[in-house]
Amino acid sequence: MKLKKLLKKINQLNDEKKGLTDAQLQFQTIKLREMIEKNEQEENIVVEAFASIREADFRVLGLFPTDEQVLGGLALYYGKIAEIKTGEGKSLVATLPLYLKALCLGTVFLVTTNDYLARRDYDRVGKVYQWMGVSIADGTHPQEDEIEGHEFDFEKKKSTYASEIIYISNTTLGFDYLIDLLSESEENKFMSPLHFALLDEVDQILLDSAQQPLIISGGAKVQSNYYQVSSDFVQLLQEKQHFNMSEEKDSVWFTEEGIEKAKWYFSLPNLLDETHFLLYQHLVLALKARTLLKKDRDYMIDRGKVKLLDRRDGRILEGNKMQSGLHQSIEAKEGMTITPETQTLSSITYQNLFRRFGQLSGMSGTAKVAEDEFINTYNLKVVSIKTHKKKIRKDHRSQKYISFESKVEATLKKVCELYAHKRPILLITGSVDISELFSMYLLSLGIPHNLLNAKSSVKESLIIGEAGRLGAVTIATAMAGRGTDIKLSPAAQAVGGLAVIITERMMNQRFELQAKGRAGRQGEPGDTYSFESLEDDVIRLYMQNEIQKYYDKHRQKTSEIKNFRIKKSFGLAQKISEEKAYGQRINALKFDNVSLLQKKKFDESRSEVLALRSTSQAISLIWDNAQPIIDEFLNQGKGKLTSESLFRFILDHLDYNYQLPDNTLDALQNPRMFLKEVFEESLEKQKHRVKDEALFLQFLKRGMIKAIDFCWSAQVEGLNQLQAVVNARSSAQKRPIIEFNKEAQKSYDYQKKETSRLMLKNTALGRMQIKKGKVILTLP
Ligand code: ADP
Repeated sequence: MKLKKLLKKINQLNDEKKGLTDAQLQFQTIKLREMIEKNEQEENIVVEAFASIREADFRVLGLFPTDEQVLGGLALYYGKIAEIKTGEGKSLVATLPLYLKALCLGTVFLVTTNDYLARRDYDRVGKVYQWMGVSIADGTHPQEDEIEGHEFDFEKKKSTYASEIIYISNTTLGFDYLIDLLSESEENKFMSPLHFALLDEVDQILLDSAQQPLIISGGAKVQSNYYQVSSDFVQLLQEKQHFNMSEEKDSVWFTEEGIEKAKWYFSLPNLLDETHFLLYQHLVLALKARTLLKKDRDYMIDRGKVKLLDRRDGRILEGNKMQSGLHQSIEAKEGMTITPETQTLSSITYQNLFRRFGQLSGMSGTAKVAEDEFINTYNLKVVSIKTHKKKIRKDHRSQKYISFESKVEATLKKVCELYAHKRPILLITGSVDISELFSMYLLSLGIPHNLLNAKSSVKESLIIGEAGRLGAVTIATAMAGRGTDIKLSPAAQAVGGLAVIITERMMNQRFELQAKGRAGRQGEPGDTYSFESLEDDVIRLYMQNEIQKYYDKHRQKTSEIKNFRIKKSFGLAQKISEEKAYGQRINALKFDNVSLLQKKKFDESRSEVLALRSTSQAISLIWDNAQPIIDEFLNQGKGKLTSESLFRFILDHLDYNYQLPDNTLDALQNPRMFLKEVFEESLEKQKHRVKDEALFLQFLKRGMIKAIDFCWSAQVEGLNQLQAVVNARSSAQKRPIIEFNKEAQKSYDYQKKETSRLMLKNTALGRMQIKKGKVILTLP
């Protein structure tokens, strides 16, 4: 096999490297950079690099990577998943491929499941890269006490992402990625290209958390107190006298008299002035809420919350969002408490995030059993790496019971037996409440123990790290403290090492293997035991019918199950559960692909805007984009344009203070030209208000970016919605993905058009103020 051949060469070269001075060894980095530059044969580069960093590991960290670790490192370098058992030294393995990948690609990532582990590994091995002249960054999020009151630090991010090797957690990387995409200027961009990532605990990241979305919501906006007063005021108005509605009843506007009444009501002689822009905006929203939106047709009130309804079939559009502020205006109209305004700005799933990398690789102690899925979804093969020392751990056959009670009883008996011998015990449960139950039992038996259910990875890892001492008893869920090595004290080793007790059949075999892998690391002694019952979740969920008769008949029996068929059902149930989860991930992936493509197009528009260099460029882009909106407007009512509808369109899109000229004949004859002039005049006025050309460009760009982000965020929510709906309908022999594609495209087209409309409105109707040196945007 190729990897073994490479290992042999690396071993030979390592004899040579031993003789180098420190300076000579460090010089290898420069030599390698040159070799890469000159495109020398990859094999030579790999052998040279691995032998050098291996020797450096020994000199700087005091650890010389074993042959198995080198094989693991090679597998990772070639973009595979290496199954490396717990305790075999994955942190050290990572140094080998990362060093070389960094030299080849410029930036590479080591991604772990939480910031604590990322930082720990950075502290453990970071020195060796530095020593070899490769830059490295701790990309983790500042700890809680550090972030209090701190704003997002773009400068720090820039320096992090300029490093060649970045240690980071999947969550922090995901959020950074989203924030970078949302940045409003090129100066704030910091993300490096996503060439290569080595994922530690790869099955947890790519399978177990795959569908989890990361969501950036624009925190609560400053709450306006205009909603209530505006709502009160519009109750006093009469249709035709104070406001007019269009025939289709989808548009409403104030009459002269309505405006006069508002001026009088609020004692503001200059309501239409910029200073009262916000109030005016709320009055319009309140008027819309009162006149256009009907309770139980457009929205309903469900358990104290306003929920949008789909007009076509009256279904609740869960989580769907209305134009910003309209929701609150409805709440005011209905006399409800007004909820703070927040907004989902962007979201991404881990699956989606990591598929954007040019190349991935991963490590885990439990990857082989999921190889099919890794190959099918990520095109990642799994290479099993032998343990350095032979495994002597004993995995005892699982004991199966009928009822939960008899299982717990047997489990506790085992705990007492092992505890009497002072064996360190790790009791693994499937859920937090079961771990609490066991904690109670142990308490009543007088067995002191640690219970792990805190959601803090630091604490989890510390407790797990301590779990290998003489007589220590620890209760945890399978995932708790994952990635932390349990070190056995010599005394604990002498009494037989760690005993892992798994207290139920789990939803996925990997979780059990993960738990078992905690014991007997690095050739140490250890045992694993499993206790299962027909009342375990996975059996109840997936095997109920098959075993019901047996269960009813033997329910009272407390002895172990002997029946072969029933014993087999435990494995079958687990298999079904695994396949179901796999199916869900495959489906989610297909949906994700659609949104990925759409997101790409929105991102392209964004980049186009960010790259604008002059106001005239920006203005023509806005106008060009707006053509479909203008077309749609002009084609309405079979092309019969009235001066009134023209006037309304201008008020809605181009100029709040527009006065129609006495003679509108010209305008009606060439409305497109006319609208363009109004638009340009309106922007001319805007420019005059801002005064400064550079600031005006900034204003235009931000107005456009806001439009894109707003519509994309609406699209994201719409797609999530759609996914749920389509999935629910899938039983009716329809292929959900096909239907999803169709609907997603429709909604994409709509949001694209809305983006252009908002660009027009934001730039023509928005206002910009400078307060304390900060630019504040008020958008229509
Ligand atoms: P894993 O993440 O694979 O469970 P760790 O990276 O936590 O393992 O390493 C487990 C322990 O093995 C650590 O204490 C580490 O120092 C030690 N170790 C790793 N590689 C070597 C090596 N080549 N020689 C000696 N000790 C090693």
